[in-house]
Order: sequence, then C-alpha cells, then structure tokens
Amino acid sequence: MSDPRAVAAAAEELRAALAPQRVSLDADQLEAFGTDESELGIFPPELVVWPLSAEEVRRVFEVARRHRLPVVPVGARSGKSGGSLAPAGGIALSLERMDRILEVNVEDSTARVQPGVILSRFQAEVERRGLFYPPDPNSLDLCTLGGNVAENAGGPRAVKYGVTREYVLGLEVVLPTGEILRTGKRTVKGVAGYDLTALLVGSEGTLGVVTEITVRLIPRPRHVSTALVTFRTVEDAARAVSRVLAAGVLPRCLELLDDVALAACARTAPYKFPPDAGAALLVETDGNDEEQVFGEIVRVAELVRGEAAGEVIVAQDESQRRAIWETRKYLSNNLKALHPHKLSEDIAVPRSRIPEMVRISREIGRRHGFLVSTYGHAGDGNLHNNVLYDRPDERPRVEAVVAEILRAAVDLGGTITGEHGVGLAKRDFLEYEQGPELVALQRRLKALFDPEGLLNPGKMFPAKGSPGLPRKGEGNGALP
Ligand SMILES: Cc1cc2nc3c(=O)[nH]c(=O)nc-3n(C[C@H](O)[C@H](O)[C@H](O)COP(=O)(O)OP(=O)(O)OC[C@H]3O[C@@H](n4cnc5c(N)ncnc54)[C@H](O)[C@@H]3O)c2cc1C
Repeated sequence: MSDPRAVAAAAEELRAALAPQRVSLDADQLEAFGTDESELGIFPPELVVWPLSAEEVRRVFEVARRHRLPVVPVGARSGKSGGSLAPAGGIALSLERMDRILEVNVEDSTARVQPGVILSRFQAEVERRGLFYPPDPNSLDLCTLGGNVAENAGGPRAVKYGVTREYVLGLEVVLPTGEILRTGKRTVKGVAGYDLTALLVGSEGTLGVVTEITVRLIPRPRHVSTALVTFRTVEDAARAVSRVLAAGVLPRCLELLDDVALAACARTAPYKFPPDAGAALLVETDGNDEEQVFGEIVRVAELVRGEAAGEVIVAQDESQRRAIWETRKYLSNNLKALHPHKLSEDIAVPRSRIPEMVRISREIGRRHGFLVSTYGHAGDGNLHNNVLYDRPDERPRVEAVVAEILRAAVDLGGTITGEHGVGLAKRDFLEYEQGPELVALQRRLKALFDPEGLLNPGKMFPAKGSPGLPRKGEGNGALP
C-alpha cells in the first residue's frame, strides 16, 4: 500500500487538475471499487478519479508518477478475472463518465465511441441505423466498450462473427509515460507498421488507458431463427456440433449445456425436457432472407436428428425465441440454487476435445468432492466449467480443482482463458500455457509501455518471487 501522505498530496493535486467532485477518498466508494465479478475478494484503491478526456487521463498519470502511485483503469467492474481490482492500492481511474457515442458513420460503416459507453446502448444505437456490432458478452447490459477492448471480449455470436479484436480499427490511448497516441486506422484495410491496435486489444489495461475506440460495423442481419435441441450425452451434442459445421452451415450461436446445467435450467425453463436428456444445444441462425434463415435452422434440425433426444424445438416467433434464451440467461442463478457458491472458469479447447474436457473436469471435481457443471460456446470450444460448492471455507479446495482444470485444458491443446482474461485470477497459470520465454518477452513489452510499472501492477504476469506452476509436460499437469 502507498504512503498515506503521498495519497493525500495526490488527491489534492488531482482535485486541482480535474475537478474536486471527480476525486474521491470516500471509504464506501473505495470499498465499492475494490470488488468486481471475479469473487476474488476486496482489493480497494486508495482514491478514485473520474476523468472526462484523454488530457485529464494524462494529468492523472502525471500526478501518479510524481507520487509513485499505481493506476488501475476501471470500466463497469463486470470483469471475472479481477483486472479492475487494486491489490497494490493506488488510484482507480474510472472511465464510466467518458460515455459518449461520438459518431456513427453509416456511409463508412464505422463508429467512434468513448470507453465508458455501455455495450447494449451502443448496439441499440447502431442497430437503429441498420448496422450491427456483433460482439455480445452476456454482460452486455453492464459492461463498457473500454472493458471489452481491454479483455478482447467475446460472446455466443463469436462462432460466426468473431470477437472484439475483429471490429476494432483504431484506438486513442494514454500511456503511463503521458503520451497520448492514436493507433490503427479508419479504413477496413490498412497494414502500415506494427499492429499496435491488436496488441492493445486484450492487454487487460496493463499497457495504456483507452480513451477512444473506432470500430467497424457490418449490416444488421434482419432475421434470426433459434432452436433448442436436447441430447442424451455431451458426446452426442459435440458430435452434432461437428456435423453441423462440416455440412457448411455456420450458425451464429451454438451454445452447449451439460446435464447438470440442464437439470438446473429445468426448474424454470418454459419447456419440459425429455427424461433421458443429458445435454442441450441452443442454436441460432441469422441473415437477411427470412426463408433462408429458417431453412438453415431446419437443416440444422435435420443434421442433428440422429443424435437428438426428443423433438427439436424451433422458435416460431419472437416470444418463443426469447423463451429459449431465458433458459440460458438464468443458468448461472439456477446453478446457485443447487449449491449457493460457484467458481466459474472460461477455458477453451479445440472443438474436437469438448467431450473429453467435460468428462475430465467432472472427474477432477468428483475426486475433490465437488460437482462441476460445464456450459458455454461449443461452436468455438470456449467452455465455462463451474465448480459448485456450499460454504466459503471450501474455497481453497475449489481453487485446487480449478488449477487442475486449467492445466487439463492446456494439456488438451487449449487455453486457460477464452474470454475473461488472465487478470489477477490466473496469473500463476500464464507460464504453464505459454512458457517462460513468451512471458519474458511480454514483460519486456510491458516495460516499454510502462517503464515505471505503475499501470495495473500485479495483473497478468506471475507475481515476482512466485514459484509459478510446473511447465506443460513437466508432470504435474497430468490428466486424470
Ligand atoms: C454475468 C456476466 C456475464 C459475462 N459474460 C461474458 C461473455 O459472454 N464474454 C466475455 O468476454 N466476458 C463476459 N463477462 C466478463 C466481463 O463482462 C467482460 O470481461 C467485460 O469486457 C468487462 O468490461 P467492464 O467494463 O466491466 O470492465 P472492468 O471489469 O471494469 O475491467 C476489465 C479490465 O479492463 C481494464 N479496462 C477497463 N476499461 C479500460 C480502458 N478504458 N482502458 C484500458 N483498460 C481498461 C481494467 O483495468 C480491467 O483489467 C461476463 C461477466 C458477467 C458478470
């Protein structure tokens, strides 16, 4: 933690540099900024600031450098890896008041936004103009575009449309050194120089503070068709996914639920699942030709008929479509009705390894005495393994389960995080996935952008002095 005199002096200077009402030392506010959706605990900053422009962000860094205070960029704190927490104290730099949609250019199919814009608001605005911004993390009513850029967020539609990085053309970014830079371009094509925009997207607020984002937009698909298919086993559902994609149909969503998830959903779902159902797929197709879109969902139904258990439910109208999505939307809460606590992971594995990954996660859980439920974006292999538990004091044992699951994902050719980021939660696993040389190169990059190590310290990289985890293939990551 910082010297209280440095914090008091910095607060005074920041009040003069920004505005008194946009600097807070209020204990309740500090505590609120000490949590996000990672359930890692409370890591409060020592003061909070709300800049309104890149120039004000630059001034915050000026003060922070003078007093050697860490700076943590903060969006909506919906993050699940602890990226916005302040384990070293310092200044929480909230972007929530930089929330203007600066431009939607229909002719160029681009938009410029400030980082604090809430994703669903932005999507509604561009859709009103016949355009579409596809990245759709399930937190879209909460999260900010700045947070999405920092985490390279994805969502159910990623299987067809890709993730945030595919849409970011350029950024305005303030480096801890005080430089205000514009990276990228406003054209869809452009290959000049290193792709610093791509480096900054997904850098988890460790390289610079994003103060403006230029994204490309695509035409809004006018029609969507949705279906729910149940299967006897996860293996059957995974085979069905491969069959659909191999047949040349590219749905915009292919969401998988395992038997535990399905049982949890059954409590509130508007459908009665067949008694032998052990998995489900939520499938969605979209496009501009209504008949073609419906035809594609019918084709999916035909392709999976062999594996399906019971009827394929195809939504006939918007209300039925919404009802199918409700099944997925309340899943997290429904799982908590089974066991009040859960630790949710977001590994990704090659699609062909999904059944193995589901089985292995479950076996790991069973060995430690916990139920593990897996659901997620089967189309791109991104799975949420949820370790369910009853009491907070079980958490260390749950973390041991998670550690084994993360290693198993890497051993199957996958990654420790498909969308939530490394942050504070998974920093000790980065080396297991990437090896010391790549991590060392990334540390050198970090030092170029942030020579004094003031921006979001303690995130992404293993803590100094941490023994880390054994490397892949060194024995400890053995599959059960
Ligand atoms: C119910 C729920 C569902 C979710 N579903 C998904 C999902 O489907 N897909 C998915 O990808 N994620 C999902 N998430 C995780 C989370 O919503 C995303 O990671 C989101 O992108 C975080 O945005 P935020 O504004 O809340 O950022 P925060 O949580 O505030 O911050 C996240 C990281 O971004 C950095 N940051 C924030 N703003 C800036 C900025 N302007 N410049 C530089 N760094 C910045 C922070 O320092 C931090 O490291 C979900 C979360 C919840 C609670």
